[in-house]
Amino acid sequence: MSWSPSIHLVVEDERHDCEQMCIYNFPNNQGRYLTSTTYTIGTKMSIVNPYLRLGAYDLKPLIRIDDPLSIVMHNESERVLNMCRCCNQPNAPHVCGRCKQARYCSQECQVMDWKTYEHKLLCKKQ
Ligand SMILES: [Zn+2]
Ligand SMILES: [Zn+2]
Repeated sequence: MSWSPSIHLVVEDERHDCEQMCIYNFPNNQGRYLTSTTYTIGTKMSIVNPYLRLGAYDLKPLIRIDDPLSIVMHNESERVLNMCRCCNQPNAPHVCGRCKQARYCSQECQVMDWKTYEHKLLCKKQ
């Protein structure tokens, strides 16, 4: 078996269920680029080809994409800008003071993300 890189995302489907998604077979040298510019938070995408929906080892649903071309990114205007990482509201005015990346609509959301959703593990001082 050969090791192949994959991109893991957590996506929300049309029913607002969160699911894990794994993308394989993207060009090796583009992984970093894709995760930082293409599959960013708030991005909408559609999957056009049939895809595998697996009950993964931990029994959580997992969407496996073997052909990145089957993902159609929606256009820029449909993208949710500055989405609150906690409650998904657009145009969240507050920015995390440490990483300057995470956005929040309110102090409560920021505290919640830090404690409950473990932003502290992702947050890096800029
Ligand atoms: Zn919020
Ligand atoms: Zn942060």
